[in-house]
Amino acid sequence: MSVIGVDAGGTLTKIVYEENGALHFKTFSSEQQVLQWLGILAQNHKLYITGGKAEKWRGIFPHAHIVGEFEAVCSGAKLLLKEEKTDLKQFTLINIGTGTSFFKVDENGCERLLGSGLGGGTFMGLGGLLTGESDYYELVRLSKEGKRELVDLSVRDVYEAMNSPVPDHLTAANFAKGDAFSKKADKLRALTNMIAETIILLASQASQAHKLEDFVFIGSTLKSNPALKEDLSQFQDMLSYTPIFPEKGAYAGSLGAFDVGRGSEHSQNRQ
Ligand code: ATP
Ligand code: MG
Repeated sequence: MSVIGVDAGGTLTKIVYEENGALHFKTFSSEQQVLQWLGILAQNHKLYITGGKAEKWRGIFPHAHIVGEFEAVCSGAKLLLKEEKTDLKQFTLINIGTGTSFFKVDENGCERLLGSGLGGGTFMGLGGLLTGESDYYELVRLSKEGKRELVDLSVRDVYEAMNSPVPDHLTAANFAKGDAFSKKADKLRALTNMIAETIILLASQASQAHKLEDFVFIGSTLKSNPALKEDLSQFQDMLSYTPIFPEKGAYAGSLGAFDVGRGSEHSQNRQ
């Protein structure tokens, strides 16, 4: 019986399944749609579910198997890298979902290093409060057009013509120049940058102790979001890291769950 990998996250449900020898990827933002879709397929597929809402979904699909979220995202990320022929022995994995979690991944497995409440949910929630917009694609489109230097206070703004002890393009205070006249796009870019700056600072602190220099970013917050990718890449020289964005990074967890399912179904069939 074929397998469906489901990542039931705090905001979105991501699904990976196989059809005619190829993998297919789907994202749902409404529970009702997932229920309809899975309700039809669950009859002749085995469900392997990961993510924060996995237990809740098992209440609806009692035969579903639960896959641990850390195991799923780490093994899914490894598969995505392999698919893209990126060969890394060890790396920091940064999952920017509703919130953000950081993992050390190497040949021995996967270790969660830390987590932050700043993530895609912050972009949606605070972005909505700042602009009145609620559509993800509209928020990322505006963010790409915005100029954060009109909202953020930079070291240059503070030191003016004087020599500053740190590079003068750095942020002195996020949002400190924002006011009632700030434009939606500029506020959203400042928000994207604040999330990115904080994630990079946390990632580099956590990675230094383990001597990890490759940062692999996954999670749906990177979907169609060039501004976030650009902002996550901006400190490469200063903090010595290489950012990597697997194309299907939103599906790391669901692919990991799918792979666990495929492996265990395969071994059961051989017994
Ligand atoms: P978590 O792992 O923290 O439980 P999750 O797995 O649901 O949450 P992701 O699906 O990786 O998280 O990312 C959710 C984020 O992706 C949203 O907060 C938003 O920033 C972004 N996003 C991308 N596409 C959409 C969409 N169609 N609708 C809403 N948010 C979207
Ligand atoms: Mg998730």
